[in-house]
Amino acid sequence: MTAITVDTLRDTCLPIYIGGEYMASAGAPIDSYDPATGEVWCQVPDCTDAEVDAAVKAANAAMNNPAWRDMTQSQRGLLMLKLADLLDAHVERLAEVETKDNGKLLREMRALSQALPVALRYFAGMADKIEGTTIPVNKPDMLNFTVREPLGVVAVIIPWNSPLYMMMRALAPCLACGNAVVVKPSEHASAGAVAFAGLMKEAGFPDGVFNVVTGLGHTAGNALISHTGVNKIDFTGGPATGKVIAKGAAEQLTPAALELGGKSPHVVCDDADLDAAANGVVAGIFAAAGQTCVAGSRCFIQESVYDEVVAKIIAKARAINIGDPGRDDVQLGPLALWSQVEKVEDFTQSALGEGATLAFGGGRPKGLGDGWFVEPTIFTDVTNDMRIAREEIFGPVLAILKFRDEDDLLEMANDSDFALASGIWTQNMNRALRFMRRIEAGMVWINTYRSPSVMSPSGGHKDSGYGKHNGFAAIEEFSRIKTVVIDYSGAQQDAFVMRVNK
Ligand code: NAD
Repeated sequence: MTAITVDTLRDTCLPIYIGGEYMASAGAPIDSYDPATGEVWCQVPDCTDAEVDAAVKAANAAMNNPAWRDMTQSQRGLLMLKLADLLDAHVERLAEVETKDNGKLLREMRALSQALPVALRYFAGMADKIEGTTIPVNKPDMLNFTVREPLGVVAVIIPWNSPLYMMMRALAPCLACGNAVVVKPSEHASAGAVAFAGLMKEAGFPDGVFNVVTGLGHTAGNALISHTGVNKIDFTGGPATGKVIAKGAAEQLTPAALELGGKSPHVVCDDADLDAAANGVVAGIFAAAGQTCVAGSRCFIQESVYDEVVAKIIAKARAINIGDPGRDDVQLGPLALWSQVEKVEDFTQSALGEGATLAFGGGRPKGLGDGWFVEPTIFTDVTNDMRIAREEIFGPVLAILKFRDEDDLLEMANDSDFALASGIWTQNMNRALRFMRRIEAGMVWINTYRSPSVMSPSGGHKDSGYGKHNGFAAIEEFSRIKTVVIDYSGAQQDAFVMRVNK
């Protein structure tokens, strides 16, 4: 099979992948844009209900296929290792496809592509270590134990910002647990998942274990989450969509994990290494052009070092090289969607209207053609009630707030609808750990920022969602417990009284 690349996809309508085969969709084509030029580069089919149904049925068939159902745990792990080895050889191809699709830096997409085999190897090692427990139930002639089993068909719905990386957070533990998967990538960036699909067959996974259907949220996405053949929904995206998914999941009583947005506090204390902190703040918000769920978009700086740190952050922002995301010397690429450019402009106006000071940026850089670029933008004199301090922008916009002491800081930092990530720069570990204990966030980074690991559980609470990816927590998320009770006493039980603990 010829590997799918930017060149083979250009000016075509993407195929979908069902039951181990690429096929053309009968769905209406949707234009997919290259954010670096603002031009259409390929099309994505809006899959029909029948195609979504076929994908879910193919996944269910795989769950009942002895080739997958009865495959031993160690064999599953070995297949995953084979896929990881294959992926090593396709890092560049997949990174190029994703950069074309969502405009993020090729360097960043390459790093995220390199993380795909790492995630597979980590979870491959877990495949044959997923154990139940034996439970002493105070009944001497009874054996009570649990087994962990796969959930069945998992619908994985992903956003456009890091498609394959987000997909693999679910796919790797799903495979380790023995599930089958139907992926619905974002209509704005579907090419990565499609380009990846063929590797599943090449690695030797039985047909139907992995499927890709594309299309819009309210059509293909809705058909997928409301399908009665789906046993779990794994959703990564915005909070508004998350609520729609949660309602749809509730209709079918399908369990769901929701990884949603954030407005993460990033704190600089007066005793921090101020250069390292300023660097961390810039990386936290301007890396990936702010299009990351964990963006440190609310920066809290202690009042005695406020002016000094703001000056350092602005100096670093001024030095950022904006341009073609494919170039290694570029640090800030375009935004993935035109609507994101408009959103940044809207927030900029609203911040000015609410009295924040535009300290840097705020416009669109000149000389970069029709690409969807915006300047790194910094607002100071922000108060916690302003829209830029409360709502997720998902762009390169930093809101800087001032704090007096720890109580003042935590009151403001926790006064947020979100609770995803957080960061603090201080050389006082007592202070850092007090912050860790009191901050409402699923993740706390101390003297670093945006440093995830596949081995470490991630996920938020409040409007940032629920459920966990990564680490052993992901195995718990994508498997379920079955309880087994054996009576080996040989005695007849009282037919009319339940054998509870008395
Ligand atoms: P989005 O919510 O618009 O879309 C996400 C996915 O949901 C897409 O595939 C979309 O087609 C699908 N969808 C939309 N409506 C649907 C429906 N009714 N039924 C089923 N599927 C539907 O999000 P986006 O704009 O693609 O991504 C940006 C958001 O994702 C941001 O809020 C960001 O914070 C969040 N995000 C979170 C994490 C995390 O780990 N917490 C990671 C990356 C992105």
